[in-house]
Amino acid sequence: MKELHPETLCIQAGYSPKSGQPRQVPIIQSTTFPYDTADAMGALFDLEASGYFYSRLQNPTCDHVAAKIAALEGGTAAMLTSSGQAASFYAVFNIAGCGDHIVSSTAIYGGTYNLFAVTMKRMGVEFTFIDPDCSEEELRAAFRPNTKAVFGETIANPALRVLDIERFAKAAHEHGVPLIVDNTFATPINCRPIEWGADIVTHSTTKYIDGHGAAIGGCIVDSGKFDWTAHAEKYPGLCTPDESYHGVTYVERFGLGGAFITKATVQLMRDFGSCQSPQSAFLVNLGLESLPVRIKRHCENAQQIAEHLQKHEKIAWIRYCGLESDPYHARAKKYLPNGSCGVISFGVKGGRAAAAAFMGRLKLASIATHVADARTCCLHPAGTTHRQMSDAELAAAGVSPDMIRLSCGLENAADLIADIDQALGAV
Ligand SMILES: *Cc1c(COP(=O)(O)O)cnc(C)c1O
Repeated sequence: MKELHPETLCIQAGYSPKSGQPRQVPIIQSTTFPYDTADAMGALFDLEASGYFYSRLQNPTCDHVAAKIAALEGGTAAMLTSSGQAASFYAVFNIAGCGDHIVSSTAIYGGTYNLFAVTMKRMGVEFTFIDPDCSEEELRAAFRPNTKAVFGETIANPALRVLDIERFAKAAHEHGVPLIVDNTFATPINCRPIEWGADIVTHSTTKYIDGHGAAIGGCIVDSGKFDWTAHAEKYPGLCTPDESYHGVTYVERFGLGGAFITKATVQLMRDFGSCQSPQSAFLVNLGLESLPVRIKRHCENAQQIAEHLQKHEKIAWIRYCGLESDPYHARAKKYLPNGSCGVISFGVKGGRAAAAAFMGRLKLASIATHVADARTCCLHPAGTTHRQMSDAELAAAGVSPDMIRLSCGLENAADLIADIDQALGAV
């Protein structure tokens, strides 16, 4: 069959019921899976046979949903995690440990920045943060002999800067390391980073993929394209025997298409246990079914609201790559030709105090530490998600003190605009 379109994959991929089986992905709410003999179970523990035995490692509901996201991203394997944070952590920690180094864009989610700059630093992983629009010299100078990966976000939350994925992939590959891209805001409907050279894709499924603010979750997808064996000295965890599994070498047993996700599952999920519940995976799957329809509407609403705000006398500045005046408009046309996301950011004239007053007067948009769901919501990043950062770090992450992040939901655009106007009118 010809390659299927994303709309079809969102409905059909990952789960094909056989005659008489449930049409909808079943919720297999079971911790364990029994076997007839101890030997049959032993083979699973040695990774010689595949099968379910304990839901911390793998669960059928989660695997169906992961397979759907892998198909959407064009990857060879995927795993669900308990959250987007766990996905970012596992994606990096699977190939970098104490004494290793990562090059990361500065324009990333605040929680990811904290994970890298504080928590993983304490684990002995060093990070060099670079402006995603830095010069070629700065980009090359960021790499070290012990660099293991490059990390960036397709559309940065909340800076809304669009990553030049091809450029970052090229730099990563020239240095023999993979590019990891957090594709949360674009979703695989609007951008598939693997097509532009990314090797690993991560998601917070908590955002548009769930889309209803119902379940925290994450996902890691492997493209299967990065040749770990060509740089075996950098990736001993994938290319040399794992004694905790009787000497399995992941790239040999599972191939380039399966090694990364298998290792992350049987080592990191085994030891850290950030697994997704089957109930949450079911909700994520419901979100995926309608994702193409929803993301289109999110983008249409954001475009209308952005165009309205751009003309409004009380708005100091606005950022949305769908606007022709936006510095990322041209890049978005290349990487996000069908639309970007439903999140816009802007400053209200009068700075921090005006921003707070405006937000307090909104009636439809709630103030919430959340984005990318059906309900419109807004946030003041400098006072919440990014409050641990210094002014210099804020500036590097593209967050100004007066920034309001507005996540345009699925309501009627005219209603949302009327709400924004009455709130601005009162400032
Ligand atoms: C929210 C978010 C995360 C973290 O995801 P959680 O599911 O909240 O743990 C990571 N990356 C981006 C871009 C996000 O927006």
